[in-house]
Order: sequence, then structure tokens, then C-alpha cells
Amino acid sequence: MNNKDNIVIIGAGLCGSLLALRLAQRGYKVDVYESRPDLRVTDISAGRSINLALSDRGFKALRLCGVEEKAREICIPMYGRLMHDREGNTFTSNYSGREGEYINSISRGDLNGILLTEAEKHENVNIYFNTECTSVDIENTIAHFKNQDTKEEFSVDGTVIFGTDGAGSSLRKSYYLERKFLFSYSQNFLTHGYKELEIPADKRGKHQISKDHLHIWPRGEYMLIALPNLDGSFTVTLFLSYDEGAYNFNNLTSEEKITEFFEKEFSDALELIPSIKDEFFNNPTGALGTVKCSPWHYQNKTLLMGDAAHAIVPFYGQGMNASFEDVTVFDAILDTHEGDWQATFKVYEKARKKDTDAIADLAIDNFYEMRDHVANPLFKQKRKLEMDLEETFPNQYFSKYSMVTFNEEIPYAEAMKKGRAQDKALLNMVAHNDLDAITDLSEVLKKVQEETNEILEEDEIAGLR
Ligand code: FAD
Repeated sequence: MNNKDNIVIIGAGLCGSLLALRLAQRGYKVDVYESRPDLRVTDISAGRSINLALSDRGFKALRLCGVEEKAREICIPMYGRLMHDREGNTFTSNYSGREGEYINSISRGDLNGILLTEAEKHENVNIYFNTECTSVDIENTIAHFKNQDTKEEFSVDGTVIFGTDGAGSSLRKSYYLERKFLFSYSQNFLTHGYKELEIPADKRGKHQISKDHLHIWPRGEYMLIALPNLDGSFTVTLFLSYDEGAYNFNNLTSEEKITEFFEKEFSDALELIPSIKDEFFNNPTGALGTVKCSPWHYQNKTLLMGDAAHAIVPFYGQGMNASFEDVTVFDAILDTHEGDWQATFKVYEKARKKDTDAIADLAIDNFYEMRDHVANPLFKQKRKLEMDLEETFPNQYFSKYSMVTFNEEIPYAEAMKKGRAQDKALLNMVAHNDLDAITDLSEVLKKVQEETNEILEEDEIAGLR
């Protein structure tokens, strides 16, 4: 390592603040520039994914940086999905058949605050808030900024510049605009957007519905989900088309229409959201998109990380986890290539890109799974079988969900490949009643493994064509 290396990080969100902490722990001088005010002193979270599901890949990165326990203190474990039908009946579907495997609801603001505070404890870290990056001169490694308060413009040069400035990254824009190299870029939006609402705590400050679950109201065209907060409230997110179907964001323009929609589709939730009309009209509608691009780096000068490199839709609860995992992977590559930024960036991107592409695709799959399939009898039967297999063979059977969420040693791309084959095998067997005659679960496991391997082999041959 060269202690004189001066690192510039654009964006002090979840990825940027964790990266700053890790690089500071490694001894670098780190300057972080964040366009928004300091979220520890200003409430800026309203309407923007107030809480998130944190799982094992995220924890691994937090552990690396010594902040796992601090994060765990503000987590609420969610052991499974709790589905609500139109009549208000509920049923549960656990996330795993193994004990100790659950996801965690955590406040974005509180977690980000912890990371900023931990990073700032290092005297080699400076964080500048209200400072927006307007562009980056990638050839000369100079970032241009504008102070949001004074409107003063200034420039900073660094040994290297990291763009962790989220889905609308200014560094990524500069890659595109400067045209120094062939830059591939795609941004695909879903036709659905999202809006956040709130189920407040009851009079005693307690949660009004189970806080041990992620609640889902799956309705095909639309979907509502709710994650618990520490203060007894729930953050509810409505996923709805902008302009398709009987109800959509464009036509829900009156109080009557909103009430009609919720009474028809989510009547049990409606009873719990007293400020629905205000929230519906005042909270922003967010877009949901996938960003894929390459290369992420320019020579030995700049690198994109987190959502700036690979924004994904939120349906696998993995965007933050993947962005944190970026730091884990980057750190391991620094161990072997420190001192050579170009090699570090190159090796990092080669190691990481296929995995972030995979989680992007899995997140889209899960949009349809959560919206359309979770209440389907075949799907429920398959999930029940998977739970039984995981419970009985905790070291031998891992569902796709478990591989992605709880098995941080399996790269996303591998989890996707194996998980998809396994899903196909299981659904085929369940649909054709192939397992009805088998009573011994170890025989079921054997059959599932055989069928999965056959599908994997077929996929491999198809890939050679
Ligand atoms: P961000 O968190 O977006 O941070 C980027 C930072 O850069 C921000 O602080 C921003 O103000 C700053 N910035 C932007 N532009 C500039 C600029 N020009 N100059 C300076 N600073 C700038 N992930 C999960 O793992 N689990 C979940 O349950 C989950 N739920 C989600 C629900 C929703 C509705 C959404 C939208 C996302 C969800 N995600 C979830 C994804 C997660 O929010 C992102 O993957 C994560 O925030 C990425 O972190 P980041 O630091 O790369 O980007």
C-alpha cells in the first residue's frame, strides 16, 4: 500500500460509507463527497425505502469492517413471509427449513448513520455533505463538485476515484459522455413503480401485526409488502403499474379511488394505514430499474461500485447486500494486488460482474414470484417440500433462496445456475405427482438431486451450441 494514495469517494450512501470505512482501516487517506445533508442530523429518508432486508452477504461485509454487532443491535429478524389474501386470511412461508436462517429488517438511515460514524472515527477520513459531484474528468482523475449551500464549484484530484453514487451515478455518466473507451450500458425499467406508506405502532408503541415476518399482499398485477421498524411501525410499499390495469399510479388520483382500490384489494391493510390519503399523495412514486454496464473501471484511475455499477430491482432484498459484498470482494483482491490499482480494478471486475449480473436477473424473477406465484398451490407445495428437505438434510439441501440469502460463500452466479435447475426439477416433479409414491424423504432428496444434475448437464450442453 502507498499511504500517500488519496482516495476520493463520490456518494456516502450504504456502499460508499462502508468502502470509506474499509479503506480507512487499510490506512488510506479517504475523502468522501455526498450530495445530500448528513442523515444523522437531518431527516431525509421519507418516501425512499425507509427500511431494508439485510442478510448474510451484507453481514459478512459488516463483519469484515468490525460493525456487524452494531448493525445487529438495530435489526428485527423476519423468519418468513406472511401472506395476506383478499379476505384477510393469512398463511406463512418460512425462508428456510434450517434454524437460525432469517432475514432482518433494518432502517436505512440508522445503518448508514452507523457506517458514517465508524468511518469518521478514523482521522484519515473526511466526509463532505451537501456536495454534489457534477462530473468527473476521468483522464486526469479530477472530480468536479458543487456545494449545495453556497453554490460554490470546486474540483478535487485523487489518486483514484470511486463512484458509489447510486443508480444515477455521476461517474458513470462521465464514462458515457467522455467517450474515452467503449462503454456498454443498459438501464431497464419495470412498468411498475413503488410508493411507501406507514402502519403506525399501536397506542402502546407495539407492532399491530406480526413483526417476525415480511408481510406480502400478492395480487398479480399489484403487490403490497410491509417490513417492521423498531418503533412499532411498519413501512409498507405498494408496487403498482404506472399506467396499466384497472388501478395504476396514473389513475389513482382521487381519495375515493384510492379507498376503493385498497378496500377491494388490501382491506385488512387499509384498516391499519390511517394516513393513507396524505401519504399516497405526498410520498414520491419511485421507479424500479436494472442498470448493467461495463467496464466499471477506467485504467488505474476510477471504479464504479454498488448501485452505480449494478442497480437492481428490490425483489430479492439483495441490492444493499450485493453492494456490501462488493466491498468484501474488493478487499480480498486488494490483499493480493495492493499497490497496483489497474490490476486491482481489472481483477475485481472480472471476479464480480457475473455475480452482479446474476443477482440482477434473479431479482427480476422474484418480482414475478412474489407477485404471481407465492399463493399458487403448486408453488406452495414446492416450498413446503423444500422446507422439509432443508430441515431434514440441513447440510445437503439448499433452496435457491437459501443459497442467495444465507449462503454467502456461494457466488450469486452459481446460486442462480443451481437454484434455477433445482426449481425446475422440483416443480416438474410436484406438477406431475412424481413424488406421491415416495414416502422416504431421503429418496426424494436423491431424486431431486438426480433431476437437478440432469438439467444442469442439459444446460451445459445447450450453452455449447
Ligand atoms: P445509494 O444507497 O443510492 O447511495 C448513493 C449515495 O450517493 C446517496 O447517499 C446519494 O445521495 C449520493 N449521491 C448520488 N449522486 C451523487 C452525486 N452526484 N454526488 C455526490 N453524492 C451523490 N437492498 C437490500 O439489500 N435489501 C432490501 O430489502 C432492499 N430494499 C429496497 C427497496 C427499495 C424500494 C429500493 C429502491 C431499493 C432497495 N434495496 C434493497 C436496494 C438498496 O437500496 C441499494 O442497493 C443500496 O442502497 C445501494 O447502495 P449504494 O450506496 O450503492 O447506493
